[in-house]
Amino acid sequence: MSTPENDSTPSFAELGLAAPILQAVQQAGYETPSPIQAQSIPPLLAGRDLLGQAQTGTGKTAAFALPLLSRLDVKNKSTQMLVLAPTRELAIQVSEAIQSYARHLKDFHILPIYGGQSMGIQLRSLQRKPQVVVGTPGRILDHIRRGTLKLDKLEALVLDEADEMLRMGFIDDVETILKETPENRQVALFSATMPGPIHRVAQKYLKDPVDVRIQSKTSTVTTINQRYWQVTGMHKLDALTRILEVEDFDGMIIFVRTKNATVELAEKLEARGYSAAAINGDMNQALREKTIERMKKGSIDILIATDVAARGLDIERMSHVVNYDIPYDTESYVHRIGRTGRAGRKGEAILFVSPRETRMLSAIEKATRQVITKMQLPSSEDIADRRVLQFMEQLSETIESQELAYFETLISQYQQEHNADPIEIAAALAFLVQKDRPLKPVKHVTQRPAREERERGPRQERGERPSRGERPPREKRAPRAHPNEPDMDTYRVEVGRADNIEPRNLVGAIANESGIDSQFIGRITINDDHSLIDLPQGMPKDMFQQIRKVWVNNKQLNMSLATEEAVAESLAARPSRRNFSKDRKDGPRSKPGKKFKKS
Ligand code: AMP
Repeated sequence: MSTPENDSTPSFAELGLAAPILQAVQQAGYETPSPIQAQSIPPLLAGRDLLGQAQTGTGKTAAFALPLLSRLDVKNKSTQMLVLAPTRELAIQVSEAIQSYARHLKDFHILPIYGGQSMGIQLRSLQRKPQVVVGTPGRILDHIRRGTLKLDKLEALVLDEADEMLRMGFIDDVETILKETPENRQVALFSATMPGPIHRVAQKYLKDPVDVRIQSKTSTVTTINQRYWQVTGMHKLDALTRILEVEDFDGMIIFVRTKNATVELAEKLEARGYSAAAINGDMNQALREKTIERMKKGSIDILIATDVAARGLDIERMSHVVNYDIPYDTESYVHRIGRTGRAGRKGEAILFVSPRETRMLSAIEKATRQVITKMQLPSSEDIADRRVLQFMEQLSETIESQELAYFETLISQYQQEHNADPIEIAAALAFLVQKDRPLKPVKHVTQRPAREERERGPRQERGERPSRGERPPREKRAPRAHPNEPDMDTYRVEVGRADNIEPRNLVGAIANESGIDSQFIGRITINDDHSLIDLPQGMPKDMFQQIRKVWVNNKQLNMSLATEEAVAESLAARPSRRNFSKDRKDGPRSKPGKKFKKS
């Protein structure tokens, strides 16, 4: 298998992609194909079917999009490529990625289609004859049945995250769609795992597929302390800055995915006062070596690198590796963190994991046979403590090592002239020193309102949305029972514990197929053969019909409005109710701005 440290990886230019596609890849700043791309692009370009076992974050979207777009005939206005994805988020993400790879294809149209979006808009967009359609199975099937999406000229079908589609109960829809496509179309099926039903679909519908698996060798890295931060609630850049504030680091290497990102992040860190520099494959050897030399000497402390640029890098003072973007495969991870802990020293590795990347985290733990511990980001108090400590140290160091006679004269002159308290003078000087980098967290400093604020009144009064810091904390409400939930109606769905239903299955399916934002889905009670679910009042009829037909774990919801007696009966039968997630302990927001998207 190819790895970033293995020179056998072909370049994008060697893979035979169409020129406009290659140009877009180069503009995206991708240096080398990821392992799944290197293995999938040639067979897909040759028209073969493909069965790919890989998870999100491995670069699988480009692995199928680049070759299939290269084969596309833009002059032909029929739908030539269809991608099925389990969720609307993924459908949109994939559609955006494909659009960016196709930016140099003239007359190219792509359309994402998913439940919850207005049918009217979709119908109008379909009339523009998109060559590529990306969508969730339910809505795609809907359009096929209405005759608004024709697949008779389809050249390629991609099933993305097939195991997720199975988990969400879409597999029957997927099969129905497969049957609607021409016999000789090309199929690429990607799945992180290969459960039985997916394997059977592959056997039934794929012809002599190339099997691509992104496997991982086991490796152990014992002198390195590994932690991860679950990307939530704050931008990665802000999280990184917090970490930089409190981590005791000598040299640090930060890994990102693209050449452009190395430069962008280096600039941002420099702007925040860190001595950082980028190294990437675009830089010539001399410049790269010069940067590495500066790192070794300590004139810079942070390198922002791509995998390729960091190949074999051996710098003793590298105490920290930060995986700002998660690597594509476990081997890259091992190579990356191997840049620290050199010569038997101890090293620290920090990995940023976004919610969609948790599978890769488990894969890394499995491959390295080590647990990566979850870390909390330093709080503003931690940052303040750290700054105070540094300030005190600087003070002692300055008293010890600097010639201060001139300044002593200056200050005693001031003290005599103003009859001032020496402590007060020192405090004023300390204030001046820390002005740009406050020792106390800002929220603890009582500030006069800013001039503009004083003159114009607070934002809320001006009818503006308060910024995050200004918003009052969300009210904590007591858990509510089904019958008296305000603003909500209780519905009964005909799936329950016997169907292995968990609240998240219901939320996922309903949010995906109806357009109700998951934050507005309320309490869920799972019973043996049915469940109760609270949804915002005033649901449009067509949305109700849509949700009624949704399938979860191979069963249709057959949703109906629950009568009060039925709710009471159901709750009596099941003494302990369950909230579907801890985020929703306080129920959905009571006054959602827009609970139902227009349809
Ligand atoms: P995916 O696994 O398709 O969700 O892709 C994960 C991320 O990797 C996306 O942000 C892509 O833009 C990025 N990516 C895909 N291929 C490459 C590549 N060869 N080099 C750098 N980044 C890539």
